[in-house]
Amino acid sequence: MMRCLKCGAVARTRTSVRLSERTQRNYHQCQNMLCGTCFTTLQEVEKILTDAKPTEGAELPRELFHPNHLGDDQMGLDF
Ligand SMILES: [Zn+2]
Repeated sequence: MMRCLKCGAVARTRTSVRLSERTQRNYHQCQNMLCGTCFTTLQEVEKILTDAKPTEGAELPRELFHPNHLGDDQMGLDF
């Protein structure tokens, strides 16, 4: 959760754009109706702490998961 730099109110993330494998730009809007400041932030994966690998032969019921949760078939963010 980000806070507005002008008034300190909570800012809502409206959308994001993937810039690289590790970085995305987030677009925020202040929720204070008297302010409404819009700003961007950069979010980056700093470090991978675990290296979990699936057990050999293990299978997932792919139809039960949203494509974004499987790491493939990503939905595009282009308009
Ligand atoms: Zn504000």
